[in-house]
Amino acid sequence: MNVMEAARAVLAERFGYGEFRPGQRAVVEAVLAGRDALAVMPTGAGKSICYQVPACVLPGLTVVVSPLVSLMADQVRSLKEAGVRGAYLNSTLTPAQQAEVLHRARAGAYDVMYVAPERLADPRFVEFAAEAAIPFVAVDEAHCVSQWGQDFRPSYLSIGDFIAALPERPVVAALTATATERVRTDIVRLLDLRDPALTVTGFDRPNLRFAVERCEPKRKDARLDAFIDERRAESGIVYCSKRAAVEKVCAHLRERGVAATRYHAGLAAEERERNQRAFVNDDAPVMVATNAFGMGIDKSNVSYVVHYNMPGSVEAYYQEAGRAGRDGEPAECLLLWCDGDIATGRFFIEQESANEALSPEEAEVVRAGRRRMLEAMVGYCYTTDCLREYLLRYFGEEAGSPGKAGEPGAGATTAPDALGAVPTAPDPRCCSNCAGEMEAVDVTAEARAVMRCVHELRGRFGKTVVVDVLRGADTEAIRSRGLNRATTYGTCDAKRPLLMEVVELLAAADYLAITEGKYPVVCAGGRYREAARDDFSLLMKRTAPKAKKGAAPRAARTTSGAEAVELTATDQALFEHLREVRKRLADEADVPPYVVFNNATLAAMAAARPATEAQFLAIPGVGQKKLETYGTVFLEEIAAFESELGHLTR
Ligand code: ADP
Repeated sequence: MNVMEAARAVLAERFGYGEFRPGQRAVVEAVLAGRDALAVMPTGAGKSICYQVPACVLPGLTVVVSPLVSLMADQVRSLKEAGVRGAYLNSTLTPAQQAEVLHRARAGAYDVMYVAPERLADPRFVEFAAEAAIPFVAVDEAHCVSQWGQDFRPSYLSIGDFIAALPERPVVAALTATATERVRTDIVRLLDLRDPALTVTGFDRPNLRFAVERCEPKRKDARLDAFIDERRAESGIVYCSKRAAVEKVCAHLRERGVAATRYHAGLAAEERERNQRAFVNDDAPVMVATNAFGMGIDKSNVSYVVHYNMPGSVEAYYQEAGRAGRDGEPAECLLLWCDGDIATGRFFIEQESANEALSPEEAEVVRAGRRRMLEAMVGYCYTTDCLREYLLRYFGEEAGSPGKAGEPGAGATTAPDALGAVPTAPDPRCCSNCAGEMEAVDVTAEARAVMRCVHELRGRFGKTVVVDVLRGADTEAIRSRGLNRATTYGTCDAKRPLLMEVVELLAAADYLAITEGKYPVVCAGGRYREAARDDFSLLMKRTAPKAKKGAAPRAARTTSGAEAVELTATDQALFEHLREVRKRLADEADVPPYVVFNNATLAAMAAARPATEAQFLAIPGVGQKKLETYGTVFLEEIAAFESELGHLTR
């Protein structure tokens, strides 16, 4: 049997999957052939398999470096459920427990060991590693090594040294969901990857339906209520940009009888842990949180993610939204935003960089990068184009051609191209723009007027002044600066909010730039000159009059391939029943429900109704070990359901 056959056998027997997903195969193949690998895959694409399978095939111990300390115990438990010998080493273990883990590892008790990056500098671990046979090191969340990324962790910088100090250099694989070219280059350099096989795949998540709605702050709660009321039985996450908003929204939902919990960095570690567990175990199906929540959370039955505020970058948005629908079932990603969110985003950029120990020049480089990322995010809110296409273009992937690596680093140049085009073959299940819940309004004339005015004012004034000049406002601020004598004074009679929006839209598309700071000014953007061309045009999104909010068709697309199944009403009843069985077993074993089986697996059971062990084993997600642990219970439950059904229909 060659190594890939062995890998496929492990995949089937241990993990219960018939096929590698395309990206997984490429990474596993490279690693087993002794070649380094860099895998860029979105959350939910199945990065774990990329190192877990080689770990089972290769002799010796595979070391997985991960920053997600709080998840390691669950990951190892999941592995054990699959019959893989795993362990973890991090600060949640006492020194005595750590010593015990190393002692057993020396005796060859494990195939995989999850290690927090801080451990790599611990002399006891270094000593252990110097003697152990470590053929393979996998670095999860590898973007943490880069200062250009959103989650830079200084401890990640020691990984390269750790690997270099090993007596024999292992194969190294780096895995991340971050797409920018800069971060990728940093990963290769700082982890010293040697001629790595690059795999970029699967940024499209066909089962996610995207929706963007502009929503004034005072209307947000009502909109959220309506959204959640339609999904009371389901589990979801509501992301807010500030802790205070998390508190407010969570309290509001609880008052309405929604079993919500909360998570943000201001809570004690103990409460964070407790709330996270309540959510993962489905005791509190709605989680209200800041972006501090969710990195690495593998809860497969999250069926919606609402953003109560606009996040600071498309990367952050896609990662957070991508926590929905990991089981391949249809799921919704709704973004509610308002002008204040953009202002907050600009404010955060200024605040954050002020705290870093960077030189003023470095800080400005970082700020400029973040500003571009923010504008691309604003562009997503404004685009009249297909939202899915906008996202995929941002990540350098064309919709419908998975696996194509692009130039995703240039957020500001990729993003604006997505503005303005009306989709040709709209599919209402794809996104709110394709559903025609929005209509495009031509604001080219207003945009030209704004550009002329900014040019005349030479980028010295803010948005309000620009708009006042255009509308010919007779205010003291205008008169005292002599702006009532400007040639563009009173040259546009469009309404004030519309003009304000046109300015933001031009900034989102990089025709203009808006500086952050106490007195933001509107000045030229990277594509400033293009706006003077004859073929320049600008479309703005407006709620279509006929649009019925909240009645948008529910997502019906499922993950491509054989992983998702259509359920009849009876199947659905069985599925719900199996969920209860799963919850009971999970509670008994004190593990999260998805560790027993994920929703896709339960759905496949409900549809196929296996009656024998062989049929049960054929269900995706069922391996030998799971068959042994749970086969009897589930087969009995399914048989009981079938016989009851027989009675009813007889
Ligand atoms: P990531 O780490 O990339 O976010 P995970 O490794 O947690 O993703 O995997 C996401 C989901 O996909 C899991 O529920 C996993 O069981 C499932 N999965 C992974 N590989 C396969 C496969 N080859 N076939 C079917 N399902 C898979």
